[in-house]
Amino acid sequence: MRTPLIAGNWKMNGRRGDAEALARAVEVKVAALSGVEICVCPPFVHLQAVQSVLSGEHVALGAQNCADAGPGARTGEIAAEMLLDYGVSHVILGHSERRAHYGETDEVIAARYQEAQNAGLIPILCVGETLAEREADQTEAIVGGQIRGVTERLEGTGLGNGVIAYEPVWAIGTGRTATADQAEHMHAFIREQLAMLEGHANASARRILYGGSMKPANAGELLAQPDVDGGLIGGASLDADDFVAICAAAQ
Ligand code: PEP
Repeated sequence: MRTPLIAGNWKMNGRRGDAEALARAVEVKVAALSGVEICVCPPFVHLQAVQSVLSGEHVALGAQNCADAGPGARTGEIAAEMLLDYGVSHVILGHSERRAHYGETDEVIAARYQEAQNAGLIPILCVGETLAEREADQTEAIVGGQIRGVTERLEGTGLGNGVIAYEPVWAIGTGRTATADQAEHMHAFIREQLAMLEGHANASARRILYGGSMKPANAGELLAQPDVDGGLIGGASLDADDFVAICAAAQ
């Protein structure tokens, strides 16, 4: 009942030509897949180039962030509604790299989420603990706090059509993946938290993606877990064959 979503986070990689070539390769290779939604999230400056090579039928376009306010005096930011002009439908929010390097707090992430929702975008809200937090047995407290810290600040629609991405920070870009059991435990925990915040029906319909060194070799086992509804893919999304193999595993 939850259609899996595989989203590629290209981060700050590639020149315009690389982005076009990657998008073109993904578009061709996923055409035969069904039962899985696929999205690629290039850097802002490549959105138009990528949009121009996607047919819009197989691969959705996502951004890696959006502003916490509408158009106006926010130098260096991109308003959610501006993304609509480039065919963007999804937006990654609260990625651990944004939290760690740019000081993004739950408060600012909630404001970005609200803007995304108001513009009709599908937010992909990232949560996850650091290694030190896991080793201190703080994983559930941290992740539960991040979920509540955003959800409780949202007005009206709540999480709306958003997607959660559980991304243990220690697994991002490290080659060290959560085991299928660790991932399923946290996804089930997140769904329980959501049930308390938004009711069982909404929580059981909400997609929860896993992110953190997902590769073709481990995707099948992770995606087979009952509460894992897709993946947010960093490094492996920069290789069309690897990314498409993960998409195929989600079918
Ligand atoms: C990410 O940055 O969202 C991510 C999951 O990266 P990687 O797949 O490279 O660990």
